[in-house]
Amino acid sequence: MHNKTIAELSRGLREGDFSSEELTRHFLERINRLDNSLNSFITVSEELALAQAKQADAQIAAGEVGALTGIPLAQKDIFCTDGVKTSCGSKMLDNFIAPYNATSVEQLNAAGTVMLGKTNMDEFAMGSSNETSFYGAVKNPWNTDTVPGGSSGGSAAAVAARLTPCATGTDTGGSIRQPAALCGVTGLKPTYGRVSRYGMIAFASSLDQGGPLTRTAEDAAMILGVMAGFDERDSTSIDTPVPDYTAGLNDDLNGLKIGLPKEYFGEGLDSGIGDAVHAAIDEYKKMGAEIVDISLPNTHLAVPAYYVVAPAECSSNLSRFDGVRFGYRCEDPKDLEDMYKRSRGEAFGAEVKRRILIGAYALSSGYYDAYYLKAQKVRRLISADFKQAFESVDVIMGPTSPTPAFGLGEKADDPITMYLSDIYTIAVNLAGLPGMSIPAGFVNNMPAGLQIIGNYFEEAKLLNVAHKFQQITDHHQRTPAGFE
Ligand code: GLN
Repeated sequence: MHNKTIAELSRGLREGDFSSEELTRHFLERINRLDNSLNSFITVSEELALAQAKQADAQIAAGEVGALTGIPLAQKDIFCTDGVKTSCGSKMLDNFIAPYNATSVEQLNAAGTVMLGKTNMDEFAMGSSNETSFYGAVKNPWNTDTVPGGSSGGSAAAVAARLTPCATGTDTGGSIRQPAALCGVTGLKPTYGRVSRYGMIAFASSLDQGGPLTRTAEDAAMILGVMAGFDERDSTSIDTPVPDYTAGLNDDLNGLKIGLPKEYFGEGLDSGIGDAVHAAIDEYKKMGAEIVDISLPNTHLAVPAYYVVAPAECSSNLSRFDGVRFGYRCEDPKDLEDMYKRSRGEAFGAEVKRRILIGAYALSSGYYDAYYLKAQKVRRLISADFKQAFESVDVIMGPTSPTPAFGLGEKADDPITMYLSDIYTIAVNLAGLPGMSIPAGFVNNMPAGLQIIGNYFEEAKLLNVAHKFQQITDHHQRTPAGFE
């Protein structure tokens, strides 16, 4: 059952091949047996899952079935879940139980899905390797000496290891796409504003966006259809209709114009990843696509601009964790000042502290214009590059990550090298565009990801482009050894 896609499981449930309870017990058993070696879950919500599964079975029996009724999934531990711990990978929220569900969680619950648990992540979604989690690193199921990517590393590892058919993620600078690439699964970061951020713990509010990690593009289309939509509780949510993302999956790609930015194929790109991406592009040519060489000249400014904007927003967002309102409070504070200092000092990890310090510095008077305002201007230039590119192409393709999964600990003490893992993904967040990563092949038995970037609200086109590739390739079907 665990090798079936959501689309296949949905048919099986409706045809009575198995019940949601059987399916849920099957995945819970796999998590209990196999996740010790991966650490992809922070919390397994067995009781809730079985209750939701029984409810789904009752709905199926009564004929009230939607496409996702009874489908198990996992939520990244950044989404607030009523009654189930939401830690955000941090000691700060180790004891936090939200009194409400994030909108995405609410919508997936309403669609009849079953929540298996909450997946591990970099602390407050800051990282590219899942090594900054308070709950320990996650291992990549393709080689447990390597990282799964981050920050949605638990979600990507769990989907790759067939511990869940789907997991949600969030992407501020690549955190859905990069772990999807490193673990050989499909990840979709929607257009900024497409999926509600209500109840999704904020890291950098102008960049954060939730989306699905699944095995296939078809599954991603089914999940996005439920997660997407206007939410009046999120002031940056956009009120535009949600299309049926599954309707155009098989549309013909003849004449599709694919832009290849020369900046995405230069120095720093692993040659094996480059080969896998070029081989994937050749498949598109066979399907009738036309390749257009393009340039995104401000690409080299994306990482520096991001590492001003994201820390600035993080320092503001994380000021709410002060020992008073949420989560951790130090023992026996002497006075208010001592409580603030020690609560934050004891409960935040090194990477989170580094970001808060950089952000507070960049926003301070005298430096604001030099750093924050400058970074916002660069951000505009980066958006303008994409705007121009989309005047002549339908989608942009390139690698998701410059390298395959790297060794655990390899970059942990070198933040700058770690930040460069997101060199191809970050510009997409700065511009607010939708992007996907799909399995494109393997380098020394480790997955390589193809990134597909679309124009605003063109998720349906991305899914179509990804789905057609998955109809003629089987990279996405390969299972890591030991998890068959
Ligand atoms: N790796 C990037 C960072 O550490 C992106 C993280 C994310 O997308 N949440 O900021």
